[in-house]
Amino acid sequence: MNLSQRLTTLTGGGSDGWDVFIKARKMIAEGTPVTELTIGEHDIRTAAPILQDMHASAMSGHTGYAMVPGTDTLRDAVAARTEARTGVPTSRDNVLITPGGQSALFAAHAAACDPGDVALYLDPYYATYPGTLRGVSAVPRAIITRAEDAFQPRASDIAAACDGATSLLINSPNNPTGTVYSHDTMTGIAGVCQEHDLWLISDEVYDSQVWDGTHLSPRALPDMAKRTLVVGSMSKSHAMTGSRCGWLIGPEDVIAHLITFATHTTYGVPGFIQDASVFALVQGPDFEDEIAAPFRRRRAIAHRVLAGQNTVGLIPAQGAMYLMLDVRATGLSGDDFANALLDTHHIAVMPGESFGAAAAGHVRVAMTIDDSAFEDALRTVCSFAESRTAA
Ligand code: PMP
Repeated sequence: MNLSQRLTTLTGGGSDGWDVFIKARKMIAEGTPVTELTIGEHDIRTAAPILQDMHASAMSGHTGYAMVPGTDTLRDAVAARTEARTGVPTSRDNVLITPGGQSALFAAHAAACDPGDVALYLDPYYATYPGTLRGVSAVPRAIITRAEDAFQPRASDIAAACDGATSLLINSPNNPTGTVYSHDTMTGIAGVCQEHDLWLISDEVYDSQVWDGTHLSPRALPDMAKRTLVVGSMSKSHAMTGSRCGWLIGPEDVIAHLITFATHTTYGVPGFIQDASVFALVQGPDFEDEIAAPFRRRRAIAHRVLAGQNTVGLIPAQGAMYLMLDVRATGLSGDDFANALLDTHHIAVMPGESFGAAAAGHVRVAMTIDDSAFEDALRTVCSFAESRTAA
């Protein structure tokens, strides 16, 4: 039997960049201790009071089909969080609750793109992006951002890539680079979207993790709310990655269509997960700061460690739970560096190349182990880089 092209070509062929991750997992399974700095998951688990609320909700019977758009209380809570953070008037009719931000990314592109339409995204990028765009039969087109610009996109590069495009996907704070787009960058992006009549899909799942600068949601820029679809999630802000609860914010008519789409795809998110998400959101921004605090601390540790050497460059880590390290001085590709580091020191980092051509010669370090182990690992990364540079 033939499978659809949509499925068989989803990852675009070739390596999907997860080789180092898979090798590290294999070493761990075979009993070799590995310092794991690959994936973006907190080293804490979901807080006990959230789980207790989830349990109470399930025990009280919220285990049947939930409302497909999301419960009124969760949609209201997400709308209130959005309005408080961005100042843009937002009601439950602007909100679709989805099984995680990933599903919201898919729904947003289903809304914006017909088969064959070009869907723009920025390189380096979160690993699932091109596959998600192919998943709606759009044609992904990457736009390079540059290490020398600290990976802030240039509006002129986006404008030059617009032919045939209907959407542009951006992500700030950014995975993998840690870049937070400046006001100028965002207004430049908004200008291109207006000029070329693009949907702007803004992945803001790291909006609670900003160390430097200010997160600006482009939906708040003049005249942008009508063409902007914002992806959000409980995963990163509330350490609820496994709960699979996220959202899409957009104009009411788009959300109304996407509720129909959700009826035919996900059929919603479990009620007890939604109730626990309301409980978590009601804890307010202080709780979100508490979840983000370890990454803020480790980013300060990284600044201190990296200041003591000249071999490894640090892309300004303004947000999110990652550091992008420039290892080009070693003469190694990110891939070779990550493989050699794993082989010799049993430290697993992601090769920059896993996130696109623009991150070649870099590695991404997730700040997801305890502070002292993190500091030790970074020191080892630096001394390893120095040894390879001297060689
Ligand atoms: N966007 C970005 C940039 C991410 O890094 C992730 C998860 N790593 C997601 C979206 C999806 O997150 P989730 O589906 O857990 O909300």
